[in-house]
Amino acid sequence: MRNNHTALDDLIVYGGTLLTMDPQMRIIPHGVIHVQRGKIVSLESIENFTPPSGVQLLDAHGGIVLPGFINGHTHVGMSLLRGIADDYPLDQWLTKHIFPLERQFGSKEFVELGTELACVEMIKSGTTFFNDMYYFEAAAAAVADRMGMRAICGQTHVEISGVESNQEVFNKFDQFVEEVEKLSLIQPALAPHSIYGLSEQLWKDLVKYARNHQLLIHTHLCETQQEIQKTRLEKGLTPVEWFDSIGLWDQPAICAHAIELSSTDIKLLGKKQVGIVYNPESNLKLGNGICPVVELRASGAPIAFGTDSTASNNNLDLLQEAASGSKLQTFKYGVGNLKAIECVKILTIEAARALRVDDQVGSLVVGKSADLVVLDINQAHSVPLYDWYSHVIYSALQSDVRHSVVAGQILMKNRTLTRCNEKEIVSRAQSWGERIQAVNAQLAKST
Ligand SMILES: [Zn+2]
Repeated sequence: MRNNHTALDDLIVYGGTLLTMDPQMRIIPHGVIHVQRGKIVSLESIENFTPPSGVQLLDAHGGIVLPGFINGHTHVGMSLLRGIADDYPLDQWLTKHIFPLERQFGSKEFVELGTELACVEMIKSGTTFFNDMYYFEAAAAAVADRMGMRAICGQTHVEISGVESNQEVFNKFDQFVEEVEKLSLIQPALAPHSIYGLSEQLWKDLVKYARNHQLLIHTHLCETQQEIQKTRLEKGLTPVEWFDSIGLWDQPAICAHAIELSSTDIKLLGKKQVGIVYNPESNLKLGNGICPVVELRASGAPIAFGTDSTASNNNLDLLQEAASGSKLQTFKYGVGNLKAIECVKILTIEAARALRVDDQVGSLVVGKSADLVVLDINQAHSVPLYDWYSHVIYSALQSDVRHSVVAGQILMKNRTLTRCNEKEIVSRAQSWGERIQAVNAQLAKST
């Protein structure tokens, strides 16, 4: 027990019910969390706690305090393309709209503003950590760090034959890693786009490079039937088998989508503990399929929820993603095969395991970083409340997120962002949107 505070306290969060997500899944009523130098130094239950003066305080009465949500797959830099070409089939969506618009508008400024907008949206909906991949990723990393978000930022690469030698590609990665490593909240990663986006040789070189530099590889895996069939035809293997043949699964890796896997694929991914990101809304919206989450978890593969980009979702709301994702698994496997409590793990500690950061975040435990959110439960849609976990998955809304904290820093207090001007960011995004829409209208005419 630790009843007194010291001048070293950065923050005290008090009065809420703590869903710790620790190995014992402890639930602590009347919780008081002391944070020093960004880390949790104690968690205890104190009824009628009297907050001290001279310390930063967050009042969580009438709320649930839980680890901040982790978004396993995003492209925050493309947030200005939210909903730009809805209801087109995937190939048309990509080749007739997204790719031409990225060619025309893709720039450091586009990515910076897209990331600012995404961070505002994520903080307001309870996300404190995201795993990203896109272009101009060093710019995205700098913005996220400035806004106080924790992230893994992966520089995306798609190979265009004859444009760059492999050595030139790795020189750029060297530069990217050096730049991002200076940021305290951001971890650099490699983000080769997909099995079909790079040559076999570059994939092999990249796996070696990641091994030598101890970098996570973040890629798209089995997103469409077309990708799976093409790989079988060209390589005689499934994408999972081919990646195994080049040693990718012996490296830390996180893969988004996995909408269709063979039973051998599932066993392999489980045995190698490959992190899989389940993006139910993007996969449904583009008509791709449903990730076999229940079977993957049974085989041992850790899962994270992901939103993918706002162009294919069209929001970054992880609570909504978890609600849709859990019900889809029930539809696929039957009631009770992915319970709400398991989905809250997927939002927090299991996602941290999938990204190999569970020694730092994902649960409210002494020694871990104070990355947490407070959800209001005094709302008409919240009461009566009989089960904390089913409330989070089936009832909670993003508007219930009252406070948000990363590394002991308050990013949102009583729904007001503390480190940026939300209105100003929204207004700049609206004016960019007008310019983008004018070009998109021309593209729509030509399809
Ligand atoms: Zn993606």
